[in-house]
Amino acid sequence: MTTSSASTVTERISVDRPFFAVEFFPPKDDRGEAELWRAIRRLEVLDPAYVSVTYGAGGSSRDRTVRTVERIATDTTLCSMAHLTAVSHSTEELRHVIGSLAAAGVRNIMALRGDPPGDPLGEWVAHPDGLHHADELVALIKRSGPFCVGVAAFPYGHPRSADLDADTERLVGKFRAGAEFAVTQLFLEPEGYLRLRDRVAAAGFDQPIIPGIMPLTSERTFHKGPELSGSPLPEALVRRLAPYSGDAAAFRAAGMEVTGELCERLLAEGVPGIHFYCLNRSTATTELVDRLGLAPTGRDRGALPASA
Ligand SMILES: Cc1cc2nc3c(=O)[nH]c(=O)nc-3n(C[C@H](O)[C@H](O)[C@H](O)COP(=O)(O)OP(=O)(O)OC[C@H]3O[C@@H](n4cnc5c(N)ncnc54)[C@H](O)[C@@H]3O)c2cc1C
Repeated sequence: MTTSSASTVTERISVDRPFFAVEFFPPKDDRGEAELWRAIRRLEVLDPAYVSVTYGAGGSSRDRTVRTVERIATDTTLCSMAHLTAVSHSTEELRHVIGSLAAAGVRNIMALRGDPPGDPLGEWVAHPDGLHHADELVALIKRSGPFCVGVAAFPYGHPRSADLDADTERLVGKFRAGAEFAVTQLFLEPEGYLRLRDRVAAAGFDQPIIPGIMPLTSERTFHKGPELSGSPLPEALVRRLAPYSGDAAAFRAAGMEVTGELCERLLAEGVPGIHFYCLNRSTATTELVDRLGLAPTGRDRGALPASA
């Protein structure tokens, strides 16, 4: 195991220059597995601060998440983090998953409540012997071992929160429970993120809030991202990208320009780094990391094949 793979996310992001990080989802089949590992190998040489692996809706990917994070921890130099949700799990089952992660050498966990299976915006019903909110999961993980724990943050508020102040109170509640950092839901304009950061600072908390950014490589990501995340689709961006509708290459170029500008603004505002939702591909993230100068080593990566 190398220094990075044995590190905590907090250690990896406590650096004096902006970092980047990448989120993957666990592959469903052999083809997805090959695609994921092409992306991992191509991104590994850029030295991301950490890479995270999501937990399927309804706990559906439990074994695949644990397996993928375990392989990243053992076969790469990367610092890895497993997502974990409380959906459909009793507290006993959650303890068991946390134990499997510890046994696999995972030191970092993103603690999430998760969404109701079937309808992400539906009514949340906790498992009868389970947990109700992410703050309880943070506390359970912290009690279970020396894990570094991250949580979700919502620049425009979680869709079920009464208002932004209540939402901020829930986020700082997760910090109080022991979370060391937060990663945001994706968003397309910086203002919501900056206001969230101000509210959290005003509440007296200084944990890093890492902006989560999805590269706008297609019309689908532009429209689906906000629809699934609850973040607004800014009218000015809709107008700016409308001329490229129907032309995939032109839309990608314009969308990547928009994403690059958003990241530049965030970095100018002093964000600690950027967490890319890369959809198990490497090319768009690599382009943005190059544009933004976020690769700490600048090592040669010319020999590796692109993954999209
Ligand atoms: C970076 C990131 C990664 C994600 N990864 C995954 C993943 O891998 N798998 C997956 O299934 N989903 C994932 N999600 C989605 C996430 O599970 C959903 O957005 C879910 O609806 C909320 O999760 P949470 O951890 O923020 O929940 P919570 O913090 O529990 O908040 C959920 C709602 O309950 C309210 N609330 C919170 N605490 C309390 C309390 N103590 N008392 C009363 N109300 C409270 C909040 O205001 C909010 O409205 C991710 C989201 C983000 C931003």
